[in-house]
This record gives sequence, structure tokens and C-alpha cells, in this order.
Amino acid sequence: GLSERMQSIMRKLRGKGKVTEADVKEAMREVRLALLEADVNFRVVRDFVNRVKERVVGQEVMRSLTPGQQVIKVVNEELTQLMGGERSKLNQALRSPTVIMMVGLQGTGKTTSSGKLARYFQKQNRRTLLVAGDVYRPAAIRQLEVLGESLDTPVFSLGDQESPVVIARRGVEKAREEGFDYVIIDTAGRLHIDEEMMGELRKIREQVSPDEILLVVDAMTGQDAVNVAESFNQQLGLTGVVLTKLDGDTRGGAALSVKAVTDCPIKFVGTGEKTDALEPFFPDRMASRILGMGDVLTLIEKAQSAVDQEKARDLERKMRTLTFTFDDFLDQLQQVRKMGPLEDMLSMLPDVGQMKGLKNVQVDEKQLVRVEAIIRSMTPQEKSHPEILNASRRKRIARGSGTTVQDVNRLIKQFNDMKKMMKQFTQMAKGKKKKKRGG
Ligand code: GDP
Ligand code: MG
Repeated sequence: GLSERMQSIMRKLRGKGKVTEADVKEAMREVRLALLEADVNFRVVRDFVNRVKERVVGQEVMRSLTPGQQVIKVVNEELTQLMGGERSKLNQALRSPTVIMMVGLQGTGKTTSSGKLARYFQKQNRRTLLVAGDVYRPAAIRQLEVLGESLDTPVFSLGDQESPVVIARRGVEKAREEGFDYVIIDTAGRLHIDEEMMGELRKIREQVSPDEILLVVDAMTGQDAVNVAESFNQQLGLTGVVLTKLDGDTRGGAALSVKAVTDCPIKFVGTGEKTDALEPFFPDRMASRILGMGDVLTLIEKAQSAVDQEKARDLERKMRTLTFTFDDFLDQLQQVRKMGPLEDMLSMLPDVGQMKGLKNVQVDEKQLVRVEAIIRSMTPQEKSHPEILNASRRKRIARGSGTTVQDVNRLIKQFNDMKKMMKQFTQMAKGKKKKKRGG
């Protein structure tokens, strides 16, 4: 399968200390073939390979990564991007219920996925009303009712004599009146796309203004799934895709081309027949599943964070100015240690670098350990009310932490300076907002 092919290509790259342009070319040729054989749309494949090549060839190679790993990293990132980059969450109605319409060809898993979604919401303590809108296939209504019973979830039905448009409208009305969080409308599919089906789906859409129109596609159908998605999207306007039967022997092509061709994100994947077999779709996880490189990825991440460390250390001083109590302060220190979300936090703050006095709070690694020991020797009350730290308390803390009273004094002074700076900073931020609002 695709995964095995990609994994063996990546393995070859991984072992290489040096990667020549010819190596990259060869690897990309193999990637291209693997993708095509997995039934990924050829235009998608072409663009993908070009993007990877461009990035790899033109790129400055990161110090801590071997070039082989660097190529893998790029492939992984581009695969992720291909599938939408970020996880795409369900739209939520401003006022309940959120209306979800399930559409797709026959046998793709609309009814099953409706039940799975109801189960998914149930786990979040949300109530769902299932609406039996497939009046054409024999026993379709019964199928949903059985599913509903097993999930302890109500099913709204008007039998098979009423039109699906009316059923959908009345179902949504009922859900609204009875305060359901979600209403999921199961609809009929055909073996092929036809005008009549689309016409009816459009009418339902007009009647209930769904927050989500989810196309259910069968991953096993490869390219076809993508063509179906394209035409449903053109005629109906989709908000997302549920890709089913990923547990089966699929070649994976659909997952890779749906987003690229239709610009419609995959929101969930079905991985089995049971009602629990539904997962939110994470492009990055899918990419690393395809490349079979959970371990390699963590390795790469580690190497990368080692590179970022220099930068992080540079920022660490600034960060520590943004805390209030000694507890926050200690937290921050620990985060700095782990090289955690420092960068994220900083990027949310305007103009940190320009703050006055930042130079005075430089702390080296040895000092960090000392600071931590001192704070750990404080009582909870002392941590949140530093003003009570009188001479005898300071002496006790110094003894408890194996430091000197001078060390403790210095830390408290530093802490107070930071607080002052913090105030300055908040005022600065406020001033900015005001300016924005005014102009
Ligand atoms: P519908 O015609 O679109 O409503 O399709 P159904 O929900 O009736 O499903 C058709 C068949 O596909 C049933 O046998 C389901 O059990 C099966 N099915 C649906 N989703 C999945 C899935 O994610 N994995 C597997 N293995 N089977 C699935
Ligand atoms: Mg059905």
C-alpha cells in the first residue's frame, strides 16, 4: 500500500548523511509513483511533488537535522498541508440545534455515520435528534431506528410516504422545540449522481439551512470518491467530508486528494462498522501515519527544539517579567526549562522586546536552580503575598533552600522589579488598545 511504499522511500533517505540533488530527484520520482498508484489525482500529485522539490532544493538545511531527515520533514509538512493543514472542526449554530445534513451515494455509510456522529456528541453530553430522510431504500428508516435504539437516541420519522423535504423540515422544528443540541438528517443516496437527487437535496437545504452539509464518501473508491465530491460540492456546496471505510484495504488516495480538489476539508473518518468507529480528522496525524514515522517525527521535533533553544533562551528573560505571584513565576521557570510554549506566548504580546529594564533580569542556568529552590521553600501564603516576607521569614527560606539571605533578598527585589515592569507593560498594552479603538 501507499504507506509501505512511502515508508521505504523515507527509510532510504533517513539513512543518508548527505543528500544530493540526484537523491532528492530519485526519491521524488518514487513518491510520485507511489501516490499515483494510490489513486491520488494526478494534478494533485504533480503540484505536491513540485512543492516539495522547490522547498528542499532551495532550502538552507537545519543544523541539527541530517539532510535526509530534512527532506522527510518537508514531505510530511506538505502532506499535512495537502489534507488541509489544520484540523477542521464542525460548524456550530449560534442557536441550537446545529443542523447537519448527510449526503452521498448509496452504501457509502451515511446512515452509519449519522449514528456515529450522534454517539460522538453523546460522549460530549450533547443531545441529538436523528431524522430519517431516506424514504426510498427499503428498510432504511428501520435501520436508523435500530441504530437510534442502540444509542438511546431518538429518531424522528414520518414513514416512507411523506416527502424527505417535509420530513427534514419537521424534524428540525421538533429538535428546535425540544431543545436538542444537534439534528442530523440522514438522506437517500443513489448509485450515481442524478439531477433528481440533487434537486431534492437542494430543496432540503433551502428548508432547513444546515450548518453542515457533510458528504459521506467511501475511501475504497479512490479517484471516484474525489469526482463524486467535486460534483456534490458544485451542485450543493459542501461544508465537509466524512471519509468512511478507512479501516479497509484502501489505497489512501481519496484522503489525499479530496481537500486539494474540492477545497472541502475532511472533518471525520470512519474506521469500522461499530458506532464508536469515528474519529475527527487530523491532517498531521494522517500524514505521519502514511509515512509511518511517529518515532522519526518526534526525533525531528526534538532536534528542531534544540535549534530553537538558543532563541528560547534569549526570550526566557523577557518571559519571566510577565508573571505576578511566585507561583506563576515558578511555573514560568519550569516552562522555560522545558522550552515549552514560550514562543507562542511571546508572539501574542506586543513589543516585549522594547520594554525597559529587561536586561536586568538575566538569569543563568545555575541561578535558575537557586531561584527554584528559594521559591519552593516559601509557604503558599508567602508566595501569593510577598509583602509578608520579613527578616525572619527570609532567614528561614534561605536556610530551607540552602542559599543565603542575600540570595533571597535579591530574588525578592527582582520579583518586585518585574511586577513594576509588568504594570508598565499592561499600561502600554492598554494604551495601544485605546488608540486602536479611537482611530
Ligand atoms: P448509506 O447507504 O450511505 O446509508 O450506507 P450505510 O450507512 O447503510 O453503510 C453501508 C455499509 O457500509 C454498511 O454495511 C456499514 O456497516 C458499512 N460501513 C459504513 N461505514 C463504515 C466504516 O467506516 N468502515 C467499515 N468497515 N464499514 C462501514
Ligand atoms: Mg442509508
